[in-house]
Amino acid sequence: MTYDDQNIFARILRGELPAFKVYEDDQVLAFMDVMPQAEGHTLVIPKTPAITLLDLDPEAAAYTIQVAQKVAKAMEKALDVKGIVLMQLSGAAAGQTVPHVHFHLIPTSVHELGKHAAQMGDMEKIKAIGEKIKAAL
Ligand code: AMP
Repeated sequence: MTYDDQNIFARILRGELPAFKVYEDDQVLAFMDVMPQAEGHTLVIPKTPAITLLDLDPEAAAYTIQVAQKVAKAMEKALDVKGIVLMQLSGAAAGQTVPHVHFHLIPTSVHELGKHAAQMGDMEKIKAIGEKIKAAL
């Protein structure tokens, strides 16, 4: 499969679509999920164009996980977090809906995970939670 540079995350990376960013450097971006499965749901993406984890350069994968750990620690500091689910869906059959590799950080229990990419969240609430995570980074 060829990487589609018009996918939503590629457009967010180019600044063509808005996102509430909590962390950014030259290789990775972390931003709030607009259809959260739990309060604080954040996405961590490498900037390099790859569709699934299987396509991602191992060094980029390793660095993206390091950033995910950093964001998870900020979540723990900033929110009333009891546990964090790290989810990565590779391929439509696994439930992947956006064809740019990403890691979900979802502060919840795996038994309480809400429905995936189902309902738009309240953007004001999402931004307020994002501000707290950002401030803890
Ligand atoms: P996946 O289904 O694993 O590919 O996850 C894609 C995630 O992106 C879902 O959790 C969606 O809620 C989320 N999402 C879709 N569009 C946007 C957007 N414009 N900004 C932030 N998150 C988004």
